[in-house]
Amino acid sequence: MYEGVVQDLIDELGRLPGVGPKSAQRIAFHLLQADPADVKRLVDALSEVKARVRFCDVCGNVAEAELCRICQDPRRDPSIVCVVEEPKDVVAIEKTREFRGRYHVLGGAISPIEGVGPDDLRVKELMTRLSDGEITEIIIATDPNLEGEATATYLARLLRPLGLRVTRLASGLPVGGDLEYADEVTLGRAFEGRRLIDV
Ligand code: ZN
Repeated sequence: MYEGVVQDLIDELGRLPGVGPKSAQRIAFHLLQADPADVKRLVDALSEVKARVRFCDVCGNVAEAELCRICQDPRRDPSIVCVVEEPKDVVAIEKTREFRGRYHVLGGAISPIEGVGPDDLRVKELMTRLSDGEITEIIIATDPNLEGEATATYLARLLRPLGLRVTRLASGLPVGGDLEYADEVTLGRAFEGRRLIDV
């Protein structure tokens, strides 16, 4: 334990995802020794992002206005929606340049162990988007792990009765992993080879 503000900084850093107590301490001491101008840039970036960035009213992606860049773009096909877990998955898929539709960000995946159910995700918002009949295909691109598969099955059961084409990314993605860790070529191929889900 350190004195006052130093310990406060370590505690705050330690609350970040993936930062354990040792890393928190290392980052804190790095910042203590860093050039004040460098630290100010970090502080400014944090304040700016919290002041300016929000989540898109339609798809839940990160946005700097009511709608994100993709929902605002009239060239994007409004009839196909790719459902992903997190905004970082949108970034990974955009890099492949294989997909010209729109997205829906769930904000996570179903995980009974962590107490995350469908009501904790943006499923209701997805159903609302489907109500006007413009969307005809849903591509489920949740992570290729246990939670992602459970979420895909849940969504497919929910969506299929609506008469939509419900597809899942082709296999070939590293199983047990995270969508963002797939390389662009593999992820691009998984899009091309997407298959209908049978439930
Ligand atoms: Zn959007």
